[in-house]
Amino acid sequence: MSGAPKLSLRGVRLDYRRERRRTPALGGVDLDVAEGEFVALVGPSGCGKSTLLKIVAGLVERTGGSVAFDGRESSGVPAEVGLLFQNDALLPWRTVLDNVRFPLAVRGVPAAEQRARAAELVELVGLDGFGAFFPRQLSGGMRKRVALARILAADPDVFLMDEPFGPLDAQTRLRVSADFLDLWETVGKTVLFVTHDVDEAILLADRVVVMTSGPGRVKESFDVPIPRPRAVDDTRFTEPFRALHRRVTRSLRDEVAERGSRHG
Ligand code: ADP
Ligand code: MG
Repeated sequence: MSGAPKLSLRGVRLDYRRERRRTPALGGVDLDVAEGEFVALVGPSGCGKSTLLKIVAGLVERTGGSVAFDGRESSGVPAEVGLLFQNDALLPWRTVLDNVRFPLAVRGVPAAEQRARAAELVELVGLDGFGAFFPRQLSGGMRKRVALARILAADPDVFLMDEPFGPLDAQTRLRVSADFLDLWETVGKTVLFVTHDVDEAILLADRVVVMTSGPGRVKESFDVPIPRPRAVDDTRFTEPFRALHRRVTRSLRDEVAERGSRHG
């Protein structure tokens, strides 16, 4: 179906069952992500961001609503998505190159081509010379880069990223997200990116979507009026960036405050 969004969520609901009680985690999420669009999802802790990504990835079964790719309803694990979560999930017994070429091997790409493409991607993420290293020999930031190269090798239609740079220290995190920004601006893939960091959300995304406190729904959506390519340091201190930062932060703060008053 042409003209349909790459990813379309309608009324996505989820109740977790806990000791015979049902805890609503998502209260009906409506969200469209266009082909090639980068959407950052922010919201109070516990509002269901991770749950939503797991539903899109087919790892958690939704209680209600629909998930569609290119207008086609999806159930089970869709072929369209690639995941990058906090845990980089590298295979510890494989070298950097072998981790990166793993998705190509799974797809049956000829060995010589796997090696050539993996080497290219390792270089692209700035790890030239580390191909023969094992994950345990690398820093956290370098491991993230390997995970990025691997997801680029898998080349899914939709990247689902759940606080992928979360565990890194602030400096490394800024460097890795700046490099990811460059990479994304060259590949232009559809991305749904969860973060609790408003700076990161605005820096990377075309659109920042704020969720309500749990059970999560889409509260507000903000277009990011900052031209690309973006340079991390130039962008973060511009007036449009600061202005949007204030609006998103206010929207988030209202959610946390409302939740506080509802619960006590
Ligand atoms: P977020 O990523 O926005 O912080 P989560 O999606 O992790 O939120 O969680 C949403 C809500 O669902 C929270 O209240 C959390 O405690 C609850 N939850 C998450 N995973 C489970 C689970 N496996 N079983 C029961 N409740 C869960
Ligand atoms: Mg989470």
